[in-house]
Amino acid sequence: MKILFESKIFDGRGFKNFLLVENGKVVSLQQERVKDYDKFVDLKERYIYPSFFDSHTHLVWYGLNLLRCDLNGVVSVGEIIERIDEYLKVNSDTNFVIAEGYDETKFEKEEKLNRKILDRHFKNIPIVVRRVCGHIAVFNSEALKFLKRSNYIEDLKGDGILKEGVVLKLNKIFKPSKDELIKAFRVAQEKFLSLGITSISDMATFDSLEIYKGIDTILDIFFYYPWENEKELTGWSDRKKIKLKGLKVFTDGSIGAYTAALYNNYKNGLKGKIFIKKSDFKKIVLKAKEKGYQLAIHSIGDRATDFVLENLDEPKGHRIEHFEIASKGQIKKVQEKGIYLSMQPNFIGNWALKGQMYEKRLNKKYFEFNNVFGYILKKRIPLGFGSDCMPPSPLYGLNSLNIAEFEDQRIPLLDGFRCYTEGSAEIVGEEKRLGKLSKGFNADFIVTDKKIDDIGVKIVETYKEGKVVFKLKKERV
Ligand SMILES: [Zn+2]
Repeated sequence: MKILFESKIFDGRGFKNFLLVENGKVVSLQQERVKDYDKFVDLKERYIYPSFFDSHTHLVWYGLNLLRCDLNGVVSVGEIIERIDEYLKVNSDTNFVIAEGYDETKFEKEEKLNRKILDRHFKNIPIVVRRVCGHIAVFNSEALKFLKRSNYIEDLKGDGILKEGVVLKLNKIFKPSKDELIKAFRVAQEKFLSLGITSISDMATFDSLEIYKGIDTILDIFFYYPWENEKELTGWSDRKKIKLKGLKVFTDGSIGAYTAALYNNYKNGLKGKIFIKKSDFKKIVLKAKEKGYQLAIHSIGDRATDFVLENLDEPKGHRIEHFEIASKGQIKKVQEKGIYLSMQPNFIGNWALKGQMYEKRLNKKYFEFNNVFGYILKKRIPLGFGSDCMPPSPLYGLNSLNIAEFEDQRIPLLDGFRCYTEGSAEIVGEEKRLGKLSKGFNADFIVTDKKIDDIGVKIVETYKEGKVVFKLKKERV
């Protein structure tokens, strides 16, 4: 069936009036109305843009968060306790609570959650409170006992604050049921579609793999799997919309947890660390070559990035994730070696403004030269934009580009939009099918009430392969 849309349709440069779609693909974009179609959709008052491709998400994890106790936006330890209390009232049958998403750099005053405080309020149930970055969490005594019983820790002393290791494996330790995982997948997908996202690069884990084998998706999913668990991929075969792209490798941690590996110390004297042995890294690179995997290498600090640049043999076409603190020299090397970048514009709005985390924790040089999208785009390095689910909204991320403090961080919003669509498609090798509205491409698009770079723009509808998959509910007047 041929469907003709009339709207103001963004073709990457300007606007066309008509978009013809057949079998989920773009047939043509024209200024004049064609005669040969079966159905007409009038969106004259609206705009049509390619939909978003989030280049770094954790879909199922995010869905679990939506089902879990959500700590986004809390401004005090007291509020964390309140939210957990409320959650327990509604979910009285739960055996444990994982509360996610607090960010102490957004607290009204300086205070620190610890095991003692949690114990005072929650004695009989394991409680884990994980920071927004996912790399650090606070455990109450019951949760620590659970960790010890499962042999994840050796002793029960300390303030209950743990980093990396077990914290990254919470879903493995406190295992959700398959039903919960499916539910998590569904709510996350629905949320993503409502935000105009129709394709993702997913940093998956064993629980996602479990359901990716059977579930039908609307999103196009390209997933990366932890290198340590590569064996679990045995027997995987790509499905129409879920494709295995490669392996995820951590080389360092996060700035939020003081574990991103830097040359110049954090203000508290720490300098982060490289998590992976050189020999392991080399092995992964060989494995990637042997099996045709693309590597998605998490590297946030400049010291971690040097480790990657030194040890990544045949670097062309692999990806570095985040790349927040990098020198001009490193950016030049990334360009020369043909490495792709996957970065998060929302990190600017979250942490890179004056008075925020980067300035509080990092030296001046890093504060003035982080997440330098403007500088990177000038070097013509393939750059995909994603959210890392902090939060997943691309419009929120793109907005950050307008408020960035420094010239090297800034890019025009439309360039950012291209990173969030064409760029993300390019870094997974889908630049001939996704991320653009052009002949032969997937008819994946959003309908907006204003131009994408207008303030307050809303996503009114999302289309995947020519079909509506999200419609904004009419606001009550
Ligand atoms: Zn991530």
